Amino acid sequence: MGVFNGIFPIQAGKEEDARAFAAELVGAQLAGYEAHHSRVGNTRETFTLQETPMGSFLLVWFEGDVQKAFADHATDDSDFETWFRGRVFDLTGVDLAAPPAGCRFHPRCPFVHDDCHSDPIPLIELGGGRAARCLYHELCAADARREPVIAVA
Ligand code: SF4
Repeated sequence: MGVFNGIFPIQAGKEEDARAFAAELVGAQLAGYEAHHSRVGNTRETFTLQETPMGSFLLVWFEGDVQKAFADHATDDSDFETWFRGRVFDLTGVDLAAPPAGCRFHPRCPFVHDDCHSDPIPLIELGGGRAARCLYHELCAADARREPVIAVA
């Protein structure tokens, strides 16, 4: 069991679409959404719309098998997953069916190094039951503690 905590920038002017996407997930698309969680063993998931002076972001948190969940979003050919991939791409520009090689975050990570482009990025045990799939997790964590860069509107 793992936890995913990610930030996806929302394309300019798509905030209402993001709200509609969330409403559809727990409305018309609920059966497909629940089937996804059942297939991959997710126990909880939350989506949050964060509006900031630097733009808006979709904050995604879920508990489950992270690799399996993203593989399911990338490859399952159900009507739900086809709809889900299309909506995510339209809102964020992220193509779940064609993730970048190496670390999935390297196209937008401020700490990216050459070796971040290579597969696989290992899971690094941090102790205390924590782990990170980031080659430069100490850099990222140190920077986050020093200077928070997101100002809440
Ligand atoms: S520094 Fe970490 S999060 Fe950033 S691209 Fe490299 S592995 Fe990914």
